[in-house]
Amino acid sequence: MRIAVIPGDGIGQEVVAAALPALDLVAEIFDLDATVEQFDWGADRWLRTGVGLPEGAVAQLRAEFDAVLLGALGDPRIPDMAHGRDILLGLRRGLDLCVNHRPLPLATGTIELFRENTQGLYAGVGGTVGPPDRPTVAIDECVYTRDTVQRFLRYSLGRIRDAGQRRVTLVHKANAVPHTGRLWRELYAAELAAFPELDGTDEYVDAFCYHLVRDPGRYQGVVAPNLFGDIISDIGAALLGGLGLAASASICPQARLALFEPVHGSAPDIAGTGVANPYATVLCLALMLDHLGHRAPADALRAALAAARAEGGTPDVGGHDTTSGFMTRVLAALRHQH
Ligand code: ATP
Ligand code: MG
Repeated sequence: MRIAVIPGDGIGQEVVAAALPALDLVAEIFDLDATVEQFDWGADRWLRTGVGLPEGAVAQLRAEFDAVLLGALGDPRIPDMAHGRDILLGLRRGLDLCVNHRPLPLATGTIELFRENTQGLYAGVGGTVGPPDRPTVAIDECVYTRDTVQRFLRYSLGRIRDAGQRRVTLVHKANAVPHTGRLWRELYAAELAAFPELDGTDEYVDAFCYHLVRDPGRYQGVVAPNLFGDIISDIGAALLGGLGLAASASICPQARLALFEPVHGSAPDIAGTGVANPYATVLCLALMLDHLGHRAPADALRAALAAARAEGGTPDVGGHDTTSGFMTRVLAALRHQH
């Protein structure tokens, strides 16, 4: 297993450095061959060279690696995150990562949330009319292709079924956003026909958010277009108890190579203080191992996280641990299990 690691910026570097020893240990325990290569794609490189994602990066990742682990991108010296957009969108589009998976293990049951990751309102289609510095009209178009929606739904519904869930909800706003809304509903109905185990419904995004906060237990699998999925993800992170706990996988249904990243950003406010929560990054390693077919080590990492969390945690989740203090608990729990 060859893993490309992009620590990125701010606490991304700290949580990745802290979490990687858990991969080494679990690989040793389960006799896995895991090699890691680090890439310095991030703010410093951008400021030095003006380049976010180097020429040939996507081809190299495709040719040489099984998975990508990304810490976080963001830097106060680059206010509009130009480098982050360059790198993240470059990887998402270049690797065709149209599925974003965020498991939400809540007390009321796990929600498997799937968000389309490359199109919709984030397709980058639009423009302005009038003077550029004071436009009279500004347009961002919501663009969906039949092919991407279909691939996204087919893959996500399969994963939801494989996770043992019976209910699935499509989130949309077809009453106000009719054209893409109709396309999604049509393809959802068609794809659901291939999954008789799943009981599929759909809800308007506004009603869905209301119910999600009041009664998360009513949801199991959730599939959503890009913008709605983005917002729902952050509500989900809040329900989990904080950004430091939420992990995500960006997947191409047609390829093995996938990208794993914590949901949080570079958190400049706490960078360098040694208290960033590495939980989500370790969870990313578990999602990565799952994705590559190594279920037992992935479960071991999740069990170690749960054990460590029962004993302590970093300040963002109400504990007193440092980043390395929490990882000491995780590593001890891993050793203790095996
Ligand atoms: P970016 O611009 O990179 O998104 P941000 O300022 O939006 O950075 P986020 O990472 O999104 O920061 O985090 C928002 C808040 O949550 C920050 O105040 C940060 O302190 C806190 N936070 C996020 N992730 C973690 C973590 N892993 N551990 C502790 N606190 C965190
Ligand atoms: Mg942020």
